Amino acid sequence: MAKLLVVEDDSNLADSVVDMLKSENHMVEFTPNGMDAANLLAVSAYDLIVLDLGLPDKDGIEVLKEYRGRGGRGKVLILTGRGKIEEKEQGLDLGADDYLTKPFHVKELAARVRALLRRPEGVVAEVLRTATFELNAKTFTFTKGGVEVPLTKREFTLLEFLMRHPNQVFSSEAIIARVWQSDSEASADTVKVYINRLRNKLGDNLDAEIKTVYGVGYKLEVAADQ
Ligand code: CA
Repeated sequence: MAKLLVVEDDSNLADSVVDMLKSENHMVEFTPNGMDAANLLAVSAYDLIVLDLGLPDKDGIEVLKEYRGRGGRGKVLILTGRGKIEEKEQGLDLGADDYLTKPFHVKELAARVRALLRRPEGVVAEVLRTATFELNAKTFTFTKGGVEVPLTKREFTLLEFLMRHPNQVFSSEAIIARVWQSDSEASADTVKVYINRLRNKLGDNLDAEIKTVYGVGYKLEVAADQ
């Protein structure tokens, strides 16, 4: 599951884009507004942003420029009006990864999003493994030693995030930015609760374990020889 932001002021188009991306099992947030988009991008971490360039309050180009300027690394798919070739070129120069010219079919957009998320530095494999764990992001199943362990959606998303970044330490804030919705009231305590639930469900393992790094955060420690 990827975390996506859709920025589009045409409400009909936005609805169909959001519905399509949700149907592909992504966590999708939406705003019709460039200022809101800039604020969300400053506090939350997205794998991919669908960004309309023609926005009434703050231009999409400005939003993109600021985002890349701050080191934002999510994939950006820009949406441009027909005939706005300079705008498209400017967007690509500023670090957009792909573009679609309106009008387009939402299936085309879904295909572009899938392609962008598959690129090596994006969200990669759908099946993540350690010696005993197997997490299938497509079917939402998780098994330990071949036995399915039921996880809630949030537990699953958290574990998927940790399994995608083995042996990397993340602060509670970084985990919230990636795993929770921007408007949630999740705190460091919330993260702790979920980490503990996951630990209970994962049980004892020799090859992979969620470790607390005191004063810093959490990591999924995975044994090297696999
Ligand atoms: Ca527009």
